[in-house]
Amino acid sequence: MSNETVQAVRGMNDILPDEARLWLWFEEVVRDWLAGYGYRNIRMPLVEPTALFKRAIGEVTDIVEKEMYSFEDALNGDHLTLRPEGTASCVRAVLQHNLLYNAPQRLYYSGPMFRHERPQKGRYRQFHQVGVEALGFAGPDMDAEQILMCARLWQKLGLSDVTLQLNTLGDLDARHRHRSKLIAHFEQNLDLLDEDAKRRLHSNPLRILDSKNPAMQELIDAAPKLMDELDEDALLHFAALQEILKRHGVSYEINPRLVRGLDYYNRTVFEWVTTRLGAQGTVCAGGRYDGLVSQIGGKPAPAMGFAMGVERLLVLLTEGGMKLSEPDVDVYVVHQGEMAGILASRVAEQLRDADLRVILHCGGGSFKSQMKKADASGARFSVVIGDDEALSNEVSIKPMKGGDQVKVGVQDMLAAINTFIKQE
Ligand code: ATP
Ligand code: MG
Repeated sequence: MSNETVQAVRGMNDILPDEARLWLWFEEVVRDWLAGYGYRNIRMPLVEPTALFKRAIGEVTDIVEKEMYSFEDALNGDHLTLRPEGTASCVRAVLQHNLLYNAPQRLYYSGPMFRHERPQKGRYRQFHQVGVEALGFAGPDMDAEQILMCARLWQKLGLSDVTLQLNTLGDLDARHRHRSKLIAHFEQNLDLLDEDAKRRLHSNPLRILDSKNPAMQELIDAAPKLMDELDEDALLHFAALQEILKRHGVSYEINPRLVRGLDYYNRTVFEWVTTRLGAQGTVCAGGRYDGLVSQIGGKPAPAMGFAMGVERLLVLLTEGGMKLSEPDVDVYVVHQGEMAGILASRVAEQLRDADLRVILHCGGGSFKSQMKKADASGARFSVVIGDDEALSNEVSIKPMKGGDQVKVGVQDMLAAINTFIKQE
């Protein structure tokens, strides 16, 4: 490599400290919110056997066909993939450790996911999700729980313009019947299909319905509807969910075209969408996946989950004008001279004992240049110690946003700071 600086991989972002503050805040809100519903944290590896995703997500999906970072481990020949989503890993972990043996599970995870997509606003190659999964729950009460959870989070975050789209995909038999009718419908109109659609005709015809190609919209609109094939159980399940949502005043739109890009979904699927992010308008998506546990080799167990795109939610928040006003630092300790330095580090520790966030100036320099750094740190107060103060075991406290400096004995320092804080 020459003198050129090394750049991050395209589509994989650094999150710098000013922005990371917002992430920390968001993660805290999310943790509290999930705790409020009894969901427990689970942490899986970022890398899994490639076969897991092929089996769970489906061979003929965008993710598996063209978005996965898969590689062969040069040291032992294993076929591995950077996780493109969390559900498959989560279910694998639950089965591997037999977590469903005693009780159903409410779980969540968060962290980076990897998909080789064309980077653009709201679409990255490393992005972050918060994923929520409930395993061992069959009824529509769980579908409702998860949707109500989301509604509460939007409220907590102050997001008023995300709307709920809902659909049901029914169960396996209905989907098979619908699939055959779909294939027949598209086969009768082969000349109207684009390349993508032709390729998917026999492998994943449902995905054709998801096509954005305007030339095919009429054909898609005229396609046989899954709704007409649904079994009574699935219809009752869907009706019961809607009943609960109505009771809680959650509005939604039924979107029969909502099919989701992963094969494992059945019955309820949903997306929370905003118009503020252009084509990347889905901030949260999920649904029921009653077949996945057995598909990955477990004893059959119904399940339901969703994932939120953290980057998209944070863009909504910042573009909505959200700012964190809390400073990162409470006190900046300025000092000059050898004795002052000794007192300064003792004072800094005392302040931290009282749970204040303290930067002890490092690297010397004039009082003036140190005060500039104190200012730039955003600290609320500076504590100034020169040799005079050190001799008399005193400190000067200066509120950074204006106000008179006071000189107090070290033993009175905390009380003086607390008085200032009360006046803020
Ligand atoms: P899209 O239709 O936007 O490609 P998707 O259906 O592929 O989304 P899911 O697999 O359902 O997305 O993932 C859940 C959420 O994760 C999405 O709703 C979105 O908010 C976010 N997400 C998915 N892919 C990306 C990406 N490449 N960059 C940023 N966020 C993403
Ligand atoms: Mg996608």
